Formats: sequence, C-alpha cells, structure tokens
Amino acid sequence: MTGEPGEQREALSGGPEESPPTGAGEGLSEADIRWGLIYTHDRANQNTSTLQEVTATIEGLVELLVQRGLLSSEEVEAAKERAVEDVRRRFKEAGMAVITQEHGRESKYSFADGTAVDCENRVHLCKAACCRFRVGLSSEDIREGILKWDTAQPYALAKKANGSCVHLDDGTCGCTVYAERPIPCRGYSCKDDKRIWLDFERRTPQPLLHHPDWPECLDRDDRRPGGSGAAPASR
Ligand code: SF4
Ligand code: SF4
Repeated sequence: MTGEPGEQREALSGGPEESPPTGAGEGLSEADIRWGLIYTHDRANQNTSTLQEVTATIEGLVELLVQRGLLSSEEVEAAKERAVEDVRRRFKEAGMAVITQEHGRESKYSFADGTAVDCENRVHLCKAACCRFRVGLSSEDIREGILKWDTAQPYALAKKANGSCVHLDDGTCGCTVYAERPIPCRGYSCKDDKRIWLDFERRTPQPLLHHPDWPECLDRDDRRPGGSGAAPASR
C-alpha cells in the first residue's frame, strides 16, 4: 500500500454488495457514522485520483498546443469558462458532489412559503408524493442537526425503504418536523407539477404516482403526458 489517492478504493467501499446500515437516516448510530466516514474518505480518494489525472492531462495538452502556436492562453481561458457548467453537471450525476441548497443563504425561518395547496383534501390521493422527491439540505439545516440526511448521498434528506422522507408519518402523511422542514419543502407547490397531478383542479393524479420507481419511471414511460425531458426528480 503506497497511500496514493484512489489505491484503497476497493478496501474502503467494500464491494458492490455492501449497503449502508439499516439505521441510516433513522437515528445516527456508531455504525452509521463509520459508514458515513468511509463514504467520505472513499469519495475523496476517487475525486483526488480523478482530479490528478485530469489536471495532468489537460496541463500537458495545453502546454503542447500553446508551444506549437495552435492556441493562445486567452483562447484556453475562454474555452474553460464555456466547459465549466457541463463538467459540474456530469460530476453531480456521477455522485462526485454533495447535494445542498442555500437560497442565497436566507434562513428557512424567514423564507416566505410557496403557494398554499389544500393538502388535507388531496393527501388520500397523492399519499404525500412530494415527500418522495430528492431534497438537498442547507448548511443551516445541517448545523441545526434535526433533519436527517442520507449518509450515502450527503446532504440529501434521508429516505425510508419505501422512498418517502424519513420525517414523513406514513399513517397520517404528515410532516413530523414541520416547523424545521427545509426550504424546498416550504417553497414547493404541486399545483403545476404534472409528475403528481394530470389535472390539479379535478384532482386527477398522475397514473404512475404509486409506481415503486416514481418519479424516475416517468422519464422512461411513453404514457406520461409530455414524454421525456421532465424536470429532475427533485424540488
Ligand atoms: S403532493 Fe401536493 S397535495 Fe400532496 S401533500 Fe404534497 S403538496 Fe400536498
Ligand atoms: S421534511 Fe417534511 S415536508 Fe419535507 S419531505 Fe420530509 S416529511 Fe415532507
């Protein structure tokens, strides 16, 4: 073992069959914390290894192209700026970035709630589907320590095995941390969300709403009105 970044990848991640402790997101046990640290170190190792390789390749290429008079430094800077957004998106998709939201660092306690929805008249139909979306926490949420986050996907709200937020009461479909809920939960309205309602006014739910793979299945299913290109499965 040389200690080079990335070399301990197998040992840290423990193989594809490994899964987080069942308690993940339902109260942090010592095993949860250990698993979270392993995840963090593993991810840092992978990121550092990739970063070293990419940096060396790019620096070598740019040096060569500038030396040969094929590019100027200004052209390189301009191309870099154009590529940065695409690279960020791909890193996020590959799990190489944590999920957070800050809303300009506004406190959730001063955030103005979104459009009011008569949830009490609808929840028997929607079963609080909105609480199955992926929600990123803010640094305020994380510091506060009340909302549970997924140790395998920091800092997304932790989910139960059934795909719902761990803070959802499955019996009443009510939020058990209502006063402390994060900003995406405060600002969200399902009124125009075709992932939930085919017809909001008539209370006609999206037929695939109770599919175990909802909302991801919507992008794959031709039956969904609007076809592909749906909003990402998050608020
Ligand atoms: S999906 Fe809409 S109606 Fe149902 S609980 Fe969420 S906000 Fe309320
Ligand atoms: S924090 Fe509350 S409102 Fe937000 S997803 Fe969880 S149960 Fe739903």
